[in-house]
Amino acid sequence: MELTLAVLFVIMTSVCVALISVMAVWNTQAGPEPILPTGPDSTTPHTSPGPGFTTLPPGPDPTPYRIGVGRADCTGPPAELPMMGYANPQQMAAGIHTRLFSRAFIIDDGKRRVVFVTADVGMISQRLRLEVLRALKVKYGSLYGQNNVVLSGTHTHSGLAGFFQYTLFMISTKGYIKTAMEPLVNGIVKSVDLAHSTMKPGRIYRSRGELDDSSLNRSPQSYLNNPAQERDRYKGNTDKQVVVLKFTDLDGDGIGMLSWFAVHAVSMNTTNRLVSSDNMGYASYLMEQDKNPGQLPGQGGFVAGFSSSNLGDVSPNTKGPRCFNTGLPCDYLNSSCPIGGTKMCGGFGPGKDMFESTRIIGHNVYTKAKELYSTADEEVTGFLHSAHQWVNMTDVTVKINDTHTGRTCKPALGHSFAAGTTDGGGDLNFTQGNVVGDPFWDGIRDSIAGKPSNETTECHSPKPILFSTGEMNFPLPWHPQIIDVQILTIGSVAVVAVPGEMTTMAGRRLREAVKQELQSEGAFRNPDVVIAGLSNVYTHYITTYEEYQVQRYEGASTIYGPHTLSAYLQKFGGLAKAIAQDTVSSLPTGPEPPFFNKLFNLMPAAAIDRAPTNSSFGDVLEQVYPVYRQGEVVSVTFVAGNPRHSGDIRDKTFITVEIYDNRTNTWDVVHNDASWETRFHWLKGSNSQSNSTVEWHIPASAPSGFYRIKHFGHSKQRKGLKPVITAYEGQSDVFRVAASFYYQ
Ligand code: ZN
Repeated sequence: MELTLAVLFVIMTSVCVALISVMAVWNTQAGPEPILPTGPDSTTPHTSPGPGFTTLPPGPDPTPYRIGVGRADCTGPPAELPMMGYANPQQMAAGIHTRLFSRAFIIDDGKRRVVFVTADVGMISQRLRLEVLRALKVKYGSLYGQNNVVLSGTHTHSGLAGFFQYTLFMISTKGYIKTAMEPLVNGIVKSVDLAHSTMKPGRIYRSRGELDDSSLNRSPQSYLNNPAQERDRYKGNTDKQVVVLKFTDLDGDGIGMLSWFAVHAVSMNTTNRLVSSDNMGYASYLMEQDKNPGQLPGQGGFVAGFSSSNLGDVSPNTKGPRCFNTGLPCDYLNSSCPIGGTKMCGGFGPGKDMFESTRIIGHNVYTKAKELYSTADEEVTGFLHSAHQWVNMTDVTVKINDTHTGRTCKPALGHSFAAGTTDGGGDLNFTQGNVVGDPFWDGIRDSIAGKPSNETTECHSPKPILFSTGEMNFPLPWHPQIIDVQILTIGSVAVVAVPGEMTTMAGRRLREAVKQELQSEGAFRNPDVVIAGLSNVYTHYITTYEEYQVQRYEGASTIYGPHTLSAYLQKFGGLAKAIAQDTVSSLPTGPEPPFFNKLFNLMPAAAIDRAPTNSSFGDVLEQVYPVYRQGEVVSVTFVAGNPRHSGDIRDKTFITVEIYDNRTNTWDVVHNDASWETRFHWLKGSNSQSNSTVEWHIPASAPSGFYRIKHFGHSKQRKGLKPVITAYEGQSDVFRVAASFYYQ
């Protein structure tokens, strides 16, 4: 997550005003009841796994697992809602580039069952996880719960916000937005339903390789502060490895793929207003289109998940940061520019614009994963394990050496948090690498949010505290205290669910610590340990102790203080040890996280729609041309209603591109709004009028022929005293796509 200073304004200058209005709009209803989609009936609850851990002996025909895969749309209303990631209040959704999906993988060894979900969402928040677990409990009893379900976000910064219960996130993104939460909960649950209902005997194969030219460390200054002898053990300052699990049925036919690669899903930048699954979602899209031939996006049985990993300091903007105004490199230590400061410094590339950059990075990740998938022949065998604990992360004592201990702190954000990153810069005069604070902002902070206590100030040193969020509890706590630590093992593959964004080196240390514990009892031989990032609860960043000292954005956002990583190494190490010793069932559960019933919502209801005089919703305002060639862009604009009036838009589409089939005299849909080639823009005008513009970027593969574009929506109008929502539909003129001609 990157933060721009616009949000700092929201927090700093309007805390009092906002909180008063918060009280005014206080949602006094009980916590929202998750709306459950219709899904398959639950099966008989699985009996709890018994003791007795052994690794299956290697043999020519190991016992197969039972495997299910599922994918479901989790796209919310793509209009007027804040987008989650850059925390830029100006970045409100206004259409769809690609849809967002949740992808679920369920594996059963006959004794235990594990669920891994990767969803196109900025991160999994504690609230989102708790609502999903509640919904799963209603349907499946104890079969799926906090112990065996991992939820991980891809970290797209172009999904919707509104799914948090802690004040910092709510105040910066218009509170708890039920219409944004429901599609996420229902989409994730539906993906689990689908995986559950398709379970069948199958096999898993693993493969790993390296992918170059697709990631760049955005805080190399911090990385360099790690010990030289540690750095010398690695080729570079980002992890290049791609780990792939290939799922097949017993005939060897592929049913799904799950992979991990560490890169921020921020190829789409802070100027984007279209809902998009960004680079990782595009990799899923390409793999699924490849394996589900002839299907529209989001359809077909093959499910390809591209999960986030230790991407904390890893940018996809591979041309590196430059000053927007001069084109020259930014200041190395502070990532700021001589004129314009931090906001002028931003990462670029590899494409000429954000769409091309998303395409290139997504395509690179997909190509490598596909290669690893096609060559994966190392079978994953052995029992499953899952270990989970809740931990009060503000109160962990860590051993530094034989004589010294350290401890974690109440959450706090440093000054450099407000500087943002080169993937989404800040504003005003904040810069990264600030270890001294700023009396001006400290004064504003003290008068509005309160002075941090001496204890917290000391605990976070050398971080100069901008927000002592652990000491801010009005109207609700600003940050979580209780977090999840969780590990799933599938044979000798361990999936470590990290509740935030670990930097490259932090992730390496964690993988090593988990590996060491797993191997300690001899039960695991050379396990593959992967980090699933942005899992279960969002706690910002986790740097190494050494990186923390530099206080760039990632260090300033390591909210539990300098010993955060050490505490995680200890806690995850404990889980790994329990798995290795088969004593998971005796692990203490830990303190249960809160589920706040009174959340606030600052999102005004959508206004009614008006069509211009003498026109109706769906009428064409700007018509298509009669003829296009491949590579050109078709554009058509309709009189539109607000997409927020379309309600639950999952598994629907706002647009279709259709080709005329003259053999059957029918129109066949070739693209919908989930397609990479289409862009659905919603443009809000004055006087409650709005337009929808549909673009079709005609691919080189498009057959010549006759086409038309349709737009579907809903308008809300007042009929008497009552607002009434009505569906409408619009259609372009028929146009022709002619073969491209090249003259030499
Ligand atoms: Zn991030």
